[in-house]
Amino acid sequence: MLEESLWQTVLAQIQLNISEANFATWFKNTRILSKEEEKIVISVPNSFAKEWLENKYQRTILKVLHRQDSKIKKIDFIVGKTNLRTQETPFIVLKTDQPELKISKSSETGLNPRYTFENFIVGSFNELAHAAALAVSESPGLVYNPLFVYGKVGLGKTHLLQAVGNEIAKKSPEKEMRYSSAEMLVSGIISSIRDQTIEKFKALHKKIDVLIIDDIQFLAGKEKTQEEFFHIFNTLYHNQKQIILSSDRPPKAIPALAERLRSRFEGGMIADIGYPDFETRIAILKTKAQEKKDLIPENVYNFLASTIQTNIRELEGALNRIILFQKTHNRKITLDEVKSLLKEITVSPLQKNTPKRLIQAVAEFYDIKEKDILSVSRKKEIVRPRQIAMYLLRKKMQSSYPFIARIFGGKDHTTAIYAFEKISKDLQKDENLERDLNLVYMRFLSG
Ligand code: ADP
Ligand code: MG
Repeated sequence: MLEESLWQTVLAQIQLNISEANFATWFKNTRILSKEEEKIVISVPNSFAKEWLENKYQRTILKVLHRQDSKIKKIDFIVGKTNLRTQETPFIVLKTDQPELKISKSSETGLNPRYTFENFIVGSFNELAHAAALAVSESPGLVYNPLFVYGKVGLGKTHLLQAVGNEIAKKSPEKEMRYSSAEMLVSGIISSIRDQTIEKFKALHKKIDVLIIDDIQFLAGKEKTQEEFFHIFNTLYHNQKQIILSSDRPPKAIPALAERLRSRFEGGMIADIGYPDFETRIAILKTKAQEKKDLIPENVYNFLASTIQTNIRELEGALNRIILFQKTHNRKITLDEVKSLLKEITVSPLQKNTPKRLIQAVAEFYDIKEKDILSVSRKKEIVRPRQIAMYLLRKKMQSSYPFIARIFGGKDHTTAIYAFEKISKDLQKDENLERDLNLVYMRFLSG
């Protein structure tokens, strides 16, 4: 069981660092099978996921794992051995060169049974969205169509949308239901256009009773997809089928969205989710701790709720780490220990630690303009920081030389190699340089 919570904690951390669509695609159906001294074995749903996890996420996973258990050196990914409660199938598999795959009830809805109304906490911040969602789940297609829920990341949009889906599935199992992120919708549409199966793709989707598309802002600028989606939308709408959408902003703030889609989105119910207040954050923490059957000290709840204010997922992530700590140490955690745990979280490779920010940190440190460091200027006071930025990108962020060259105005990648070697060499004889680089990097890490 300890293994299971170890993996859950790792997942919670990773979820903070990658896009939701990527998380859903590659991590959601993974489970830990075993853990030995230096190795853990993870089960994955298919060989595609195995390949991606091995090639693209291995390093990230290990990094996060090391914070929990520094002994682990190796991860094996095994296809298959899951006893999943949920099998999420992205739109992509609906390609009609697999004729036996038809959208059907239960296992292919894309819904995760974990997200229900029962475990969704309501406060003034999400009251309206919750009420609308509940109404929709009671009479799909009839009250609010489409239902459009918007709010910032980590505040419960996906949970709420899925709760509607799960509720309808429970009450009316005969209904065709489909949950998908907009990202998956886009890849589904693109690949079926490529395979010339778009008509079938559309026909299939027009049979759906409840269509849920998450993070619709992702359609911005994707004209072809918008056009195809518009047709699906219209058919469903006219047949009084329920459409539920979410976005990180209201329809009018989504850039490059075709006017006709925008007005469709605005034609139903628009409900926003705001930020939970302090009391609600405490309630959320306590409910989640109870679900996991592990309580944490009262002052820790207070500390978490006052430190993490704008993201329920982060609250949950912190709580999970604390619970894991308590399980591994077999005692309650202290406030000081919580503080140092959280510090680690904030120093972890979060999304905000982008190449752009690293370059900004270097520019700031050497007191030059970001625009200059990215320019072609050959002035000495610019060239040096530029080389340092290139060095750090390579050394600390494992950026490739061509990538670095591209950032710096499409220079030849040998320029980046040269910069890296030059700074590496200088570092060996210049202690001040080493100190400066550490300072820059620390500053970058601390945001
Ligand atoms: P979003 O889609 O808005 O980024 P999610 O729905 O993924 O956010 O929520 C992030 C995490 O926080 C999920 O684990 C979810 O279960 C939890 N969560 C969000 N809102 C609530 C809530 N009102 N009650 C309980 N858990 C919540
Ligand atoms: Mg979401």
